[in-house]
Amino acid sequence: MREETRKQYLDTMGIQVYRLREAVDEPISPEQVDAVRVDTMPVDAAPADNDLMAYMALDQLQDEDQLESMPETTAEDEVLEFPLKDKPSKPGVESLDWEGLQQQIANCERCELCKTRMNTVFGVGNPDADVMVIGEAPGADEDAKGEPFVGRAGQLLDNMLKAIGLDRQQVFIANLLKCRPPNNRNPSFEEVTACESYLNRQIDLIQPKIILSVGGVSAKNLLKTEESVGRLRLQQHQLIHRNIPVLVTYHPAYLLRKPSEKAKSWEDLKKLKQVMSQ
Ligand code: URA
Repeated sequence: MREETRKQYLDTMGIQVYRLREAVDEPISPEQVDAVRVDTMPVDAAPADNDLMAYMALDQLQDEDQLESMPETTAEDEVLEFPLKDKPSKPGVESLDWEGLQQQIANCERCELCKTRMNTVFGVGNPDADVMVIGEAPGADEDAKGEPFVGRAGQLLDNMLKAIGLDRQQVFIANLLKCRPPNNRNPSFEEVTACESYLNRQIDLIQPKIILSVGGVSAKNLLKTEESVGRLRLQQHQLIHRNIPVLVTYHPAYLLRKPSEKAKSWEDLKKLKQVMSQ
């Protein structure tokens, strides 16, 4: 991790690195910094139950062309140099009601993405949902339709939810970004920051009991961490500045590229169900 990013991370997490007076001129070693980081243990247990085979077969789609139109999703262990600042909501948005928020997002021009989008993508589902699913950003299909997760990855997400008895009208599905980044590139720091208050307001209005963060970009931004999905999954985290539990799982687009990881995502969904029933 770059020193600058490391400092930003510690700053964001409210972690101070204390140093002995006489050691003040010595540089802090990466080991010293690592010693104060929150550790999250990887859990790689492969599930072995009867439902697993059915779950693994959830995605019957084979059309490679559709992969082209999906946002580029980071493989779990790819290290993202992702910005870690947590800017407060822009004034005004935090007091909007649901309709006001929908309207503001529909007319948003906070970043350059408004110039290339076809539609804004507010989110879909139940505004009183217990479960909120948060992805990364709309892709081509979502941009065309104005609805999140409607492409091939979306179909897999629907099937994943179905496997634990949920459908997209019961949960609320949203993204970090409400507009599609051109060529399905990863969202930039400026774009995430510009859109952050919209997502925060959605969360505050919905008041979900739990958030399922899908994919590394979503998790890194919601939890302000640089840990991989592989290390974050199966642990109950807490949304930054809000007392809402967050579980992390692989992005369905990643699962389409790496179907062998579906077994792990099945574990994650069972964990979601278990937490919901507590
Ligand atoms: N990937 C996402 O993260 N969100 C969508 O809406 C579609 C694909």
